Amino acid sequence: MKDKSLAFKVPSAAATARARSQAPENLNPYDFAVRQFDRAADHLGLNDGSREVLRKPKRQLIVSIPVKMDDGSIRVFTGYRVQHSIARGPSKGGIRYHPGVTLDEVKALAMWMTWKCSVVNIPFGGAKGGITVNPKALSLDENERMTRRFTSELSIILGPDRDIPAPDVYTNSQTMAWMMDTFSMTKGYSTLGVVTGKPMAAGGSAGRNEATAEGCFVAIEEAAKRQRLQLKGATAAVQGYGNAGMHVARFLDEAGVRVVAVSDSQGGIYEKKGLAVENVSSAKEKKGTVAAARGEKISNEDLLELPVDILVPAALEGVITRANAARIRARIVAEAANGPTTPDADDILRRKGTVVIPDILANAGGVTVSYFEWVQDLYSFFWDPDMVRTQLQRTIRRAYEDVESAARRYDTDLRTGALILAVGRVEEATRIRGIFP
Ligand code: NAD
Repeated sequence: MKDKSLAFKVPSAAATARARSQAPENLNPYDFAVRQFDRAADHLGLNDGSREVLRKPKRQLIVSIPVKMDDGSIRVFTGYRVQHSIARGPSKGGIRYHPGVTLDEVKALAMWMTWKCSVVNIPFGGAKGGITVNPKALSLDENERMTRRFTSELSIILGPDRDIPAPDVYTNSQTMAWMMDTFSMTKGYSTLGVVTGKPMAAGGSAGRNEATAEGCFVAIEEAAKRQRLQLKGATAAVQGYGNAGMHVARFLDEAGVRVVAVSDSQGGIYEKKGLAVENVSSAKEKKGTVAAARGEKISNEDLLELPVDILVPAALEGVITRANAARIRARIVAEAANGPTTPDADDILRRKGTVVIPDILANAGGVTVSYFEWVQDLYSFFWDPDMVRTQLQRTIRRAYEDVESAARRYDTDLRTGALILAVGRVEEATRIRGIFP
């Protein structure tokens, strides 16, 4: 009898690509982080064992966080911490409070952190954490109690030489101060280096607040130089107006770029002649949204498709997809956010000749200054702002050159170049250390 299994044909690469292009786009961030990794691994010719090790997070912790609410009731939130790799040093990565937080999102963000630390060549692996919660619905006291209990639950895997959180979406320097204090109180002494992004009064670093944006701006300068694009008089749109987006808009404005549109979770505003960025920031501060500032209303989706020179997605992942990539008109897309562009969208943008400065390079300024903060905490010796700024700019410019030369060597785009550089360094560390036992 004929063996039926022989009737199965392995689909060709072209057939797989065709099937993928016809199926609805997979927007699971972990799946697309793995697809990005696989592209770099193919270029590097990594063997199956190395791929298996580097794809999987090293450690995943899921915790239940009971919180006494102001009205006396108790609610239980779910929190995550994923450590993707510690091959090159302690793991490092932000804490996100958002209703959309899932384990797969945290896994993706942790993996991107590993590559990001490697791109800028700092001695950290990657991690990420988050709580599935709408923090806007919490009082400040509830937020503090939730943060402290979350820190206590995570404390079994945190530490300045183990895993070091930082702020991310809807967390800030106050969140980090509570985390550091909670961790320190259980030890009985102050452990400044357990988190970064702290206020200056509690072991923070000069320049950390605007570091992500400053790094992003430096990367835009590098890209513009190569594109022969004069920043003075160029146009830009920024999606997301928080720690990353707000400061990017300010740096662009200071460089003479006309920032024509900005947005946040409540919508956006557009002004062809350029927005008064200072007024937008003060509207955001006073009224909680940029939509309250002067300008024509624009949706988050339409903002992405404006005919600008520079587009800065600075909110959440998966906003530039197969569905809208062809309509993106910017010459340069600088990913201040993590994971804003899907792999299918990347392919479309590459064919159009759009320069995408990948997240693991464009927003690496934040973790770079977090590294400086950690060093300062460990040495109890604090740098002046010029020192931070000089070292940050040097790090990002050097990383840009390294990424560009990897992209050139492998005849690929900047994202894959960045991943080749990053994955190559992590794989080398993993291989040299060997597999225990
Ligand atoms: P944040 O909480 O300070 O600000 C988030 C901003 O995005 C807010 O203005 C919010 O209104 C807006 N927003 C939320 N949902 C939105 C939506 N659906 N559409 C448009 N805007 C929306 O957060 P952040 O720290 O600025 O982080 C933003 C992005 O930058 C994230 O992808 C984060 O991972 C990345 N990032 C941040 C840092 C950092 O140091 N803070 C470092 C590297 C990368």
